[in-house]
Amino acid sequence: EEQVQAIRKEHGITVLGKDVPAPISTFDELQQYKLLPRLKENLLSFGFEQPTPIQMQALPVLLKNRALMACAPTGSGKTLAFLTPIINGLRCHQTTGLRALVLAPTRELAQQIYRACMELTRSTGLRAHIISKVSEAHQQYGPECKQKYDILVSTPNRVRFLLQQQPPLLDLSRIEWFVLDEADRLMEDGKNNFKEQLDVIYEACTHSQKRVAFFSATYTVPVAKWALRHLKQLVRVTIGVANS
Ligand code: ADP
Ligand code: ADP
Ligand code: MG
Repeated sequence: EEQVQAIRKEHGITVLGKDVPAPISTFDELQQYKLLPRLKENLLSFGFEQPTPIQMQALPVLLKNRALMACAPTGSGKTLAFLTPIINGLRCHQTTGLRALVLAPTRELAQQIYRACMELTRSTGLRAHIISKVSEAHQQYGPECKQKYDILVSTPNRVRFLLQQQPPLLDLSRIEWFVLDEADRLMEDGKNNFKEQLDVIYEACTHSQKRVAFFSATYTVPVAKWALRHLKQLVRVTIGVANS
């Protein structure tokens, strides 16, 4: 326990929540979470020497299937911190339909996440998709097509649009992983307000065991409020000085 505190202190990791799993200091320590061998290879093939602080703490939390609100500076490796547990949890391709949904506030960010996901899923058989044209959604994953994808990456507008078609062009009833990247931007007040869309999307994810994670650069009240209201056994992780 003392050692855990020392590691957190050294890397500026602050945690809130009950029974927060210990941080890892090296990628090797992921072994205790039965990491898929192929996933581990893909992760190591990036050539990173050690996990970043957010990865040190968020990886164990998510690999233990806990709900997470994570705040860490831009450029600190948040993408791998959520993609790795998603991929490990899904294990292999299934034809039952989408099991993970990652939302980001802009198409460019969604593209970046999708690209990282393609690298990390290499040779695992898992299939990721990004909604580029809503008009192609029907043949991509509409009701009568064979369920092709495991992971969906998108901005919220498109997902909501597809959900609200009659009949809906997207089935989120089997989503096991629901991740918001740049959650502070997704939930901020103002013109491009995603909040309403997020509620529609979240409600369509009816799976009883879904894991939820929010990642952002800053700690903001709307995100914390939403997370505390909706999520049981929430773990909050902040890297560096808590802001806002
Ligand atoms: P964030 O989402 O926190 O802004 P990203 O996930 O986009 O950060 O990662 C920023 C950069 O850091 C990327 O180029 C990524 O490949 C790299 N990166 C990720 N993890 C590590 C690591 N453990 N060590 C060094 N660089 C890393
Ligand atoms: P985003 O803002 O997430 O990048 P887009 O602006 O590309 O998404 O498109 C999503 C929104 O645009 C939907 O909410 C929908 O209202 C509208 N839209 C896009 N394509 C179509 C279409 N083929 N038919 C009707 N509406 C569409
Ligand atoms: Mg990011």
